[in-house]
Amino acid sequence: MTFVTRFAPSPTGPLHLGHAYSALLAHDMARAAGGRFLLRIEDIDRARCRPEWEAQVLDDLTWLGIRWDAPPLRQSARLPAHAAALDDLWARGLLYPCTCTRRDIDLALGAPQEGVPLGPDGPVYPGTCRPAQAPRGPRPQDSHLRLNMRRAATGPCRFTETGPAHARPVETTPQDYAARIGDVVLARRDFGTSYHLSVVLDDAAQGVTHVIRGADLFEATRIHALLQRLLGLPAPVYHHHRLIRDDAGKRLAKRDDARALAKYRAEGATPEDIRRMTGL
Ligand code: GLU
Repeated sequence: MTFVTRFAPSPTGPLHLGHAYSALLAHDMARAAGGRFLLRIEDIDRARCRPEWEAQVLDDLTWLGIRWDAPPLRQSARLPAHAAALDDLWARGLLYPCTCTRRDIDLALGAPQEGVPLGPDGPVYPGTCRPAQAPRGPRPQDSHLRLNMRRAATGPCRFTETGPAHARPVETTPQDYAARIGDVVLARRDFGTSYHLSVVLDDAAQGVTHVIRGADLFEATRIHALLQRLLGLPAPVYHHHRLIRDDAGKRLAKRDDARALAKYRAEGATPEDIRRMTGL
């Protein structure tokens, strides 16, 4: 099997050292395996993505010495495929519309309160809008659509992990899906899809065999494995790598402009310096 991996930045801000590490690691692993390295621009969140950031991302990656083996895939171009998958899940009674605001959810949970489980997307949804029967009729476009975990997760679901922290198969039981992950949003009202749905569909469309990304997405992979099973998609191998932290030990975020690659470049750093700084 050819090794195919990808880097999938969202152009919502400058790339920082953490992104550089992720992209370089995936690129190095693809080259070492004689495989392919692909780029995907995750731009479904139209309100936050900007063409200037996309241009900067491509420029930073090229400067780092990263080369992609096919033209970059723009995720927004795949929205019709994302909608088709939602239609399928809807027709199978696995989705339901949700009109709860974040505040409604907090109120329903009595948060902040100890013992409210935190899933990959925040507090586990308390199920306020979950219907007793699968909804019928056309798929609503004007509300969030949540995955009904009680219907969707009917048996244990596994994925293969080769990252340093968890190198083993990872299993999630239906009980864990219901209690610790909950009914995640698969279509947001504002952009008609979600990170979770689009990422699994697009990894499959690009033929990705190995997903190499930060450990912050490890728990979300339980959702991705379930979606792959529901949608009949091949399951890639996952490698969640360590996170690059700032001096205070905090994970770097897009807003940490102090760590932007552009800033190091402006100060005269070389790509080799960046490799050293990320521990590669
Ligand atoms: N667009 C996502 C991010 O920038 C990519 C996540 C992934 O690699 O699956 O965090």
